[in-house]
Amino acid sequence: MVADCTTVWNDCLEIVKESVGEENFNTWFKPIVPLRVEGDVLTIQVPSQFFYEWLEDNYVTVLKKAVHKAIGPDGRLEYSVIVDSGNTQNPPVTVNYPNGMNGKRANGADTDYSPFTFRALNPQTVNSRLNPSYSFDNFVEGDCNRLARSAGVAVAKKPGVTSFNPLMLYGGVGVGKTHLVQAIGNEIKNNMPDKIVLYVDQNDFTTQFLNALQNHKLQEFQNFYLQVDLLILDDVQFLAGREKTQEMFFHIFNQLHQSGKQVIMTSDCPPRDMKGFQERLLSRFKWGLTADLQEPDFETKLAIIHRKMQADGIDIPTEVAEYLAYSVDTNLRDMEGVLNSLIFHATLLKKEIDLDLAKEVLKNIIREIQSDVSVDFIQKTVSEYFKVDLDAMKGKVKKREIVIPRQVAMYFCKRYTQLTLALIGENFGGRDHSTVIHALESVEDMMKTDSNFKASVEELGKKLKMRMN
Ligand code: ADP
Ligand code: MG
Repeated sequence: MVADCTTVWNDCLEIVKESVGEENFNTWFKPIVPLRVEGDVLTIQVPSQFFYEWLEDNYVTVLKKAVHKAIGPDGRLEYSVIVDSGNTQNPPVTVNYPNGMNGKRANGADTDYSPFTFRALNPQTVNSRLNPSYSFDNFVEGDCNRLARSAGVAVAKKPGVTSFNPLMLYGGVGVGKTHLVQAIGNEIKNNMPDKIVLYVDQNDFTTQFLNALQNHKLQEFQNFYLQVDLLILDDVQFLAGREKTQEMFFHIFNQLHQSGKQVIMTSDCPPRDMKGFQERLLSRFKWGLTADLQEPDFETKLAIIHRKMQADGIDIPTEVAEYLAYSVDTNLRDMEGVLNSLIFHATLLKKEIDLDLAKEVLKNIIREIQSDVSVDFIQKTVSEYFKVDLDAMKGKVKKREIVIPRQVAMYFCKRYTQLTLALIGENFGGRDHSTVIHALESVEDMMKTDSNFKASVEELGKKLKMRMN
């Protein structure tokens, strides 16, 4: 009888469990997925190169023991390592490595490229954790990001040499920080293959650091980071309040900076506004260049939409692109979601991309984005409160006793949902965004001049909020 891989792997896990602590078991063994057993070979899937290296560095003996017990003395283990987790169009990319049970590491016996090693790292084999799909080519330039982009290009040409060290890019959600720093990393990696490039988000950095701390591998951890030529730390604001991690980063930063290595960081606010950081670290952040990325303007959004659709080989009519550029006013990550959904409809469902489809997709996505109350609920609550007919309120009736509740409902839609002005208008009989702006203004004006009206609006606000909590 051929045992299935889950059973075999579960047998292995029983043995592993006996030798590793619960925390380590949860961290390093739970995420593993058994893929197949062929003959004496069990293949397991691990989420990243780093993961694979970690297992090989720390658990090779226990894995060997487990596999021998579960399969027999000839039992062997192979890893399928996810190197790119893919997306809706592309399946994950994996590479296979044998388990180093003979004391040899995959990819050649001499090249030990474990992250935590004393020996020199090999730039060819270090996992930079970069996503190759982010490039300067597909990063659209606009007024909103010009300075940051130029600084990025300069750094990519001469890492560590310009005065832009560190380069600190900051801006809100979805303005392109990650895209830009990854583009810099990719450019350097491609043009200067002898440079060691490493992209980490604060989560990677913190986890690695804590693991190193727990496992008494701090020296290795530092040694690894000190060999990096370009260190990119994304979303550094999350290090706030993490004293020890900051301490370690401070040390690494100083060493790298002193030896002319490039450091790039991103954050959601400028260093002067960052809370929970040691002053000496903040002052280091300001040594080089600090540049911000702004919310993209209409033109830039339009160009981003066209670029993205072109890359997927899809024609998008100008009016649809304009509609989206105008309507998605939350952030570019939401835009990405909307575009992916459109691409999905166009390619899989073979629908033509037109305004109707765009509106439909937008409605669904925006509804997902909003986590609070729905337009329907606001409309219903407001019409009941003012005792007016719901359909009349949503419709075109111009009587004052209807118009005011309608304006109030629009006002709450703006406050409590993430709908764009245009979409709010659509939910009230297809009015355009300027009508909505006018409504918001008159509600605010009336609240200033009429205290009874103000009290009513506030009471309504409370009713709606109760529903939200
Ligand atoms: P952040 O890190 O600032 O939150 P991201 O870099 O993740 O933002 O950007 C969000 C999405 O928008 C990504 O898919 C990114 O490719 C895209 N994007 C942002 N800015 C641009 C730009 N200028 N040109 C092309 N795509 C962009
Ligand atoms: Mg980001």
